[in-house]
Amino acid sequence: MSKMPNHVLESSPNAALNKSIINRFMDLPMPDGKCQAMYIWIDGTGENLRAKTRTLDFVPQKPEELPVWNYDGSSTYQAEGANSDTYLHPVAIYRDPFRRGNNKLVLCETFKYNNKPTETNKRNMCKKAMDSAADAIPWFGIEQEYTLLDMDLRPFGWPKNGFPGPQGPYYCGVGANKVYARDIVEAHYRACLYAGINISGSNAEVMPSQWEYQVGPCEGIDIGDQLWVSRFLLHRVAEEFGVVATLDPKPMPGDWNGAGAHTNFSTKAMREDNGIIEIEKAIDKLSRNHLRHIQAYDPNQGKDNERRLTGKHETSSIHDFSAGVANRGASIRIPRGVAEDKKGYLEDRRPSSNCDPYSVTEAIVRTCILDE
Ligand code: ADP
Ligand code: MN
Ligand code: MN
Ligand code: MN
Repeated sequence: MSKMPNHVLESSPNAALNKSIINRFMDLPMPDGKCQAMYIWIDGTGENLRAKTRTLDFVPQKPEELPVWNYDGSSTYQAEGANSDTYLHPVAIYRDPFRRGNNKLVLCETFKYNNKPTETNKRNMCKKAMDSAADAIPWFGIEQEYTLLDMDLRPFGWPKNGFPGPQGPYYCGVGANKVYARDIVEAHYRACLYAGINISGSNAEVMPSQWEYQVGPCEGIDIGDQLWVSRFLLHRVAEEFGVVATLDPKPMPGDWNGAGAHTNFSTKAMREDNGIIEIEKAIDKLSRNHLRHIQAYDPNQGKDNERRLTGKHETSSIHDFSAGVANRGASIRIPRGVAEDKKGYLEDRRPSSNCDPYSVTEAIVRTCILDE
């Protein structure tokens, strides 16, 4: 905490809490057989997460063992006050890196009073597509970019009355004048590993206080589940440091890079020898469904990505489809190594950082595998 600049301490009350006091309580032994399960769900914004905890008198191993629960959907933009009970159906379990021990994080789907999925339960349809496409063994790896903010919502560590020097030295940077808040990045990485997330790497991004981590490769529905839980861990770790993490795709207008969620995709056929032919077939199908994908690639049907996909700052224009080997200005990039090996995967660079990975991967599977 002593490393926090004064202006952060002034504007971030949580940063001033003494974290050694809470540890005296978190170290208390749990009664035998009991555990705390934190149920996590996506709220009515389609972007933000909510969570609440219940005590269980057994240690769950599978989501099916967990009770269905409910919450007040009128307080999460998911129901009217007069008919507000909304249901939580557990779908995946992870270890809880905050409470440790037998305690669990429980990812849930949300259902309305009439047992229909809520509007922002995109997992339900995604799962159906993934089940239909299972024989193709689809893999996904998502690069989650994000920006850290002070409590006044300026990027963390930026001067209050001005700007840092122009972009250039920050990407994969090292040194106190190049990167800000690496502690949060390191804590989040370990928290993901502990929880059981298949996190595959992290790096500092082009704009100062912007970072990236990658989740994957994961098969089918697992990528959406794991990415959402990794986002929960990011917000929760940042909360611990009194800092805000935003997934806004263009947090600073002007000559600053936006944030995306590049989605790397392959099928079994693409990963086999000469799979490049399958990759090219998929790119052809994607080229004929550009609008459908743009609408699925941010929670506001393309409105958020309009600010980001400008054709500048390593993006393609939102209006045009393009593809190329090693081209960071294209909608779809074939990594150089994939072109050389003639097999592997493709990278869809269009998804916004705040996309719902269930919507993104469902659209890819329906276009490229199910031919819908
Ligand atoms: P970039 O060069 O675009 O920055 P990264 O290294 O950040 O790429 O991320 C690449 C992502 O692609 C990782 O999440 C990785 O797990 C994923 N990936 C690697 N191989 C495959 C594959 N065959 N299918 C799908 N995803 C893959
Ligand atoms: Mn990357
Ligand atoms: Mn990146
Ligand atoms: Mn990328």
